[in-house]
Amino acid sequence: MGYATLLRCRKCGQEFPLKPLNLCEVCLSPLEVIYDYKTISATLSREKIAGGPVSMWRYRDLLPVETEPVDLGTGYTPLVKAPNLGRQLGLDNLYIKNDCLTPTYSFKDRAVAVAVTKAKEFGFDTIACASTGNLAASVAAHAAKTNLKAYVFIPSGLETGKLVGIAIYDPVMVTVDGSYDDVNRLCGKLVQEYKWGFINVNLRPYYAEGSKTLGFEVAEQLGWRAPDCVLAPSASGLLFTRIYKGFEEMAMLGLIPPVKTRMFVTQAAGSSPIVNAFNAGTVHVHPVIPHTIAKSIAIGNPADGFYALRIARQSNGGAYAVPDDEIIAAIKLLAHTEGIFAEAASGVVIASLKKLAASGQIKRHEVTVAYITAAGPRTQEVVADIVKTHTVKPTLESFNQVLGLKK
Ligand SMILES: *Cc1c(COP(=O)(O)O)cnc(C)c1O
Ligand SMILES: [Zn+2]
Repeated sequence: MGYATLLRCRKCGQEFPLKPLNLCEVCLSPLEVIYDYKTISATLSREKIAGGPVSMWRYRDLLPVETEPVDLGTGYTPLVKAPNLGRQLGLDNLYIKNDCLTPTYSFKDRAVAVAVTKAKEFGFDTIACASTGNLAASVAAHAAKTNLKAYVFIPSGLETGKLVGIAIYDPVMVTVDGSYDDVNRLCGKLVQEYKWGFINVNLRPYYAEGSKTLGFEVAEQLGWRAPDCVLAPSASGLLFTRIYKGFEEMAMLGLIPPVKTRMFVTQAAGSSPIVNAFNAGTVHVHPVIPHTIAKSIAIGNPADGFYALRIARQSNGGAYAVPDDEIIAAIKLLAHTEGIFAEAASGVVIASLKKLAASGQIKRHEVTVAYITAAGPRTQEVVADIVKTHTVKPTLESFNQVLGLKK
């Protein structure tokens, strides 16, 4: 049994039953899951959460599932203190939320776990998604685990490692000749023709909720408080909005003090429609054509851009975009200082953090959390130039000759 009660339009407030539906039938705005918070607040406590499973399902009361979840073991990833990186950037209270450590190596497993559970509840036998790569891998893995058929739609030009990382779970892979935004448009048409559960189309309100656990976990791991500053990478903008919703729900339920977190959207300069709108001071997010190595967040027309922008502004946060060369340098910096090999989306976060710390927008003492949303090994080509090895013969003499300490 769960506590979700209905879907509500974020714009006009029209309500709908909990069904596979993404957009308001009146005004075409996105729908959001609403809960019976009164009953939740009567049953939920810090102790109950802390005694739950060591996974995202410790927050099950705040997720819209009714049945036993489809679970690959996602969540409760480490929040690690980052003193080495912090020293370089001039930050005394820097933390990394390391979501490289999920079953398919990106935070998408959180969102997909909820959406696939709903797909089963709604009786779909086939699930599908429009993906920049990471979502496809997660959808395919969850489909395998729960014996559903999966169709994953991806844009052309993805990294080889990512293609293998999807194909290994044996979905039907469809490469669309075009960008992610073309893939998304196609899926918007397919969802009307095929009775499939599209994880990020008709199941999007449920998909969105899974990402809240990235807010819940950080607040719990900081000792039941929201951080002062958050940086997260943005593609459609959804993750960014849900981290904040996670903090706000916890505060509303009295699990943490009121939220004063400043939220910073980060994007690659080659795909930064949300940052552009922030800087232009408008509420309209104008689509762009993406060109960046950060392919997992290369979305030119972000569905939740408007809402991400609003949170960045209202929270007194900001929006920052960084060029590809700084993204690559930041991937290396994170690995050199904290031993975490992340992908380009996280390079975007670290490069932006560097700028924001240097400019004083984030202060030395502030408790700052940088969200690292996917692991690096699947997209190695962006840093392949680093390999430098010393070749020796298997003898002491040879080693001494090449690298040994001189007597
Ligand atoms: C999908 C993704 C994001 C953010 O996605 P949103 O569409 O903004 O929710 C961030 N990082 C990585 C690595 C991703 O795959
Ligand atoms: Zn509406």
